[in-house]
Amino acid sequence: MALIVQKYGGTSMGSPERIRNVARRVAKYRAEGHDLVIVVSAMSGETNRLISLAKEIQAQPDPRELDVVIATGEQVTIGLLAMALKDIGIDARSYTGTQVRILTDSAHTKARIQHIDDENMRADLKAGRVVIVAGFQGVDADGNITTLGRGGSDTTGVALAAALKADECQIYTDVDGVYTTDPRVVPEARRLKTITFEEMLEMASLGSKVLQIRSVEFAGKYKVKLRVLSSFQDEGEGTLITFEENEAMEKAIISGIAFNRDEARINVIGVPDKPGIAYQILGPIADANIDVDVIIQNVGQDGHTDFSFTVPRNDYQKACRILEGVQGHIGAKSISGDDKICKVSVVGVGMRSHVGIASTMFRTLAEEGINIQMISTSEIKISVVLDEKYLELAVRVLHKAFGLDQEA
Ligand code: ADP
Ligand code: ASP
Ligand code: MG
Repeated sequence: MALIVQKYGGTSMGSPERIRNVARRVAKYRAEGHDLVIVVSAMSGETNRLISLAKEIQAQPDPRELDVVIATGEQVTIGLLAMALKDIGIDARSYTGTQVRILTDSAHTKARIQHIDDENMRADLKAGRVVIVAGFQGVDADGNITTLGRGGSDTTGVALAAALKADECQIYTDVDGVYTTDPRVVPEARRLKTITFEEMLEMASLGSKVLQIRSVEFAGKYKVKLRVLSSFQDEGEGTLITFEENEAMEKAIISGIAFNRDEARINVIGVPDKPGIAYQILGPIADANIDVDVIIQNVGQDGHTDFSFTVPRNDYQKACRILEGVQGHIGAKSISGDDKICKVSVVGVGMRSHVGIASTMFRTLAEEGINIQMISTSEIKISVVLDEKYLELAVRVLHKAFGLDQEA
C-alpha cells in the first residue's frame, strides 16, 4: 500500500464523462489499497475563458481580483470529482487551496508555495477518504486567494507529494508521457521511458509545457518520484523523471527539442562601448520586473556597440517604452525589435561528453535556409532564436537530424 498523489489536467477533467473516467481510475487504485490525494485542474479552456471575461471588464485586470476569478475553475472540478467518486461508492472530500492551507507568497498570478498544512489531508486519509485538492491556487498570509501561474496544478501536485512524503506523484495528461518534442508539432516524436531531472528542468524552462517548470524544481528539491502518464490509457508506464543518468541516457546525446514562441527580441543599436552600459540598459528592465533571457553584445567598433536581448512577448511593448525613455541617457542611436520570433532548443546531458552538436544544429538549419538571429548555450542545451515562421520546420528537421525519430 502506497501514498500516491495523482494530478489530472484540464483535458482529463474536460467533461462529465471524463470526470467519471478519472473517478474510475481513482477507484481502481483505491481498490488496490492505496491512499490517494488527487489534484485537479479546471476543465480545459475554462481558465482562458475566465481570463477573457476579466479582461472584458478591465483591460489590465487587477491581479488580486483576477486571482479571485481564475481560481474558481478548479473549485468546480474538485466538487464534481468528489461527487463522481461518491456516486460509485468511494468516500472523498474536496478542498480548495485555502481549505488545505497551501500558503504562498503574495505575488498574485505567479505566487510561490511556502508551506502546506497536511493535517486535514492526513485525517481524511486516515479515515479512508480520498482527498481532492484544487490545483493552481493557494492563499497568502493575509488570507488572499493566490494562483501559481499557468500550468500551476502540476506544481500543486508535486508540492503536495513533497509535503506528504508520498511514494509517487503521477501527472495524468493528454499524452502518454514526455516525448522527444511536442508530438503535436512532430508526429514522429517518441515517448521517453525516462528523462533526467536536469533535462526535464531544461525542457520545461525552454518551453515544453507538459510540466510546469516549478513542479520540476520541487521534484528536484524534495526528490519526489515523478511520472507523466496518459489519463486516456489504462496501461502504460509513461515517463519517469530520474535523478541518475542511466545507460540508455548515456547513449542518447540529445534527449529532446523544446520551443517557445512567447518571446520578443529588442535591439539597442549604437551604444557607447564602455563599462556599465549593459547595466544601464538592463537595470531599468529588471526594475520593471521583466525577465530577460538571451543576451548578445557585439565587440565594439569605433567606440560603439550593439546590444540585443529577449523578453517575454507580453512585456515587449512595456520594455520598448522603458528603453525609449532612457535612450538619450544611454546614448543609443536607435531602438528596434521584433515580437515575431521563436526560440528552439536542443537538450541533452550527453552534450557534456560530445562535441559537434552545435555544428550539426547550425548546418541543419542552414540547409533549410533558416537564419539564426541569436544563440545561447549551457552545458546541456543549445538555443537559437529564429523568425517565428520557421518554428515548425526547424523543430522537424532538427528532430530528424539528431535521430530522435528512431529508437535510441
Ligand atoms: P494538462 O492540461 O494535462 O496539464 P498540458 O496541455 O499542460 O496538459 O500539457 C500537455 C501537452 O504538452 C501535450 O498535449 C503536448 O502538446 C504538450 N507538450 C509540449 N512538449 C511536450 C513534450 N516534449 N512531450 C509531451 N508533451 C509535450
Ligand atoms: N487551470 C490552470 C491553467 O489553465 C492551471 C493548470 O491547468 O495547471 O493554467
Ligand atoms: Mg499543464
